[in-house]
Amino acid sequence: MINAHTLSDFRVKHDTALNGLFVQTLGLLSVDGLITLERVMQDGTKIRAKAAADSFRRPQRIEQALKEAKAQVAAVEAMSEEEGSRRMAKARQRAARERQERLEQALKEFEQLKKEDKDKEQRRVSTSDAEARVMKQPGGGYAPSYNVQIDTDAKNGVVVAVGVVQAGNDFEQLEPGIDRVEHNLKETPKEVVTDGGYVSKDTIVAMKERAIEYIAPCVDEAGKGQSSYDNRGVSAEYHSLRFIYDAQSNSYLCPQGKTLSYEGKEQRHLQVSYRYRAKRSDCERCPMKSQCCPGNRVVGRSVHRSEELAEVAEFRHKMKSEGARAIYKIRAQVAETPNLWIKEKFKLRQFSVRGLAKVGMEALWACLTYNIRVWMRLCWRKAAVVQPA
Ligand code: SF4
Repeated sequence: MINAHTLSDFRVKHDTALNGLFVQTLGLLSVDGLITLERVMQDGTKIRAKAAADSFRRPQRIEQALKEAKAQVAAVEAMSEEEGSRRMAKARQRAARERQERLEQALKEFEQLKKEDKDKEQRRVSTSDAEARVMKQPGGGYAPSYNVQIDTDAKNGVVVAVGVVQAGNDFEQLEPGIDRVEHNLKETPKEVVTDGGYVSKDTIVAMKERAIEYIAPCVDEAGKGQSSYDNRGVSAEYHSLRFIYDAQSNSYLCPQGKTLSYEGKEQRHLQVSYRYRAKRSDCERCPMKSQCCPGNRVVGRSVHRSEELAEVAEFRHKMKSEGARAIYKIRAQVAETPNLWIKEKFKLRQFSVRGLAKVGMEALWACLTYNIRVWMRLCWRKAAVVQPA
């Protein structure tokens, strides 16, 4: 008998078949020349998880809830059918078992959070959907969500890959997205376009290594991190630029002739920043301290020297060109259309299933439906052109 559970289970049980159908559809579109992979645009969209914001708990609370859930499962299973109809009893058993499974999954998820390097104090897992993560929402505020990554072929707006991740930002999502495109179409896109949320030096280098033309806005970091002192009321004569770098000794000389030795490096967005520091004793005795580093009480003055990889410099240069800027201008229209359709037309603003795997399938259903809709539109357009007026 077909009921709501049959349909609901069907939707999330046949991932191999669904993935196969998605890839077959792409194959047909490709054969028709409707997908070229000349230019692919990737974008991420947050879709709410089936979990309440107040369902996040620490491990101790979940362990306690699990004990109670196990007791409830035992109690429900011990109930005789006379106490309720058979159907009702089965529904109660199913609900109690599902709650126990969700709590067990929630406890396991703390191991994953450790790998994600979450601050111990911040580690909380949802008892409704353990794999959901609290993410910043486009309209403001935070909510339990998943990050849906969609790659769209620019020629006709066909979605060529979809993936769901737990990361709250898009920073490391471009390479996995390209992997999915290659897996689906056995071909590498020639050019890929993203917004600035994907840009990092690792991504720029990776795209270069994969021989993919990468188009995205490049944040100008020049001047950033030269020295945090320059914005703290330091006299112009003691700004970082007044400190002289000596490459041979890898150190700086300050305007008073004292040495700032190499202290360490920091990874920045697109650069590596090397930090140099004067001796505390030198600065304490310096008559110009009030103009150079007035706030320093326990350490000497520091300056930073930034270096940029050749690949990043080349990317930065490219993104200043008119051609690259013109390509980037069409990004939003192509990349954001499927996201908008899925949320506005298909009303997928919140997943109706729980867990990364099932949520991934729900997103895939939506993208498959979207592609079929695009395909029908393209077929109608073709037919209209062929038909005599
Ligand atoms: S405060 Fe320190 S770094 Fe600044 S000028 Fe004096 S000695 Fe040099």
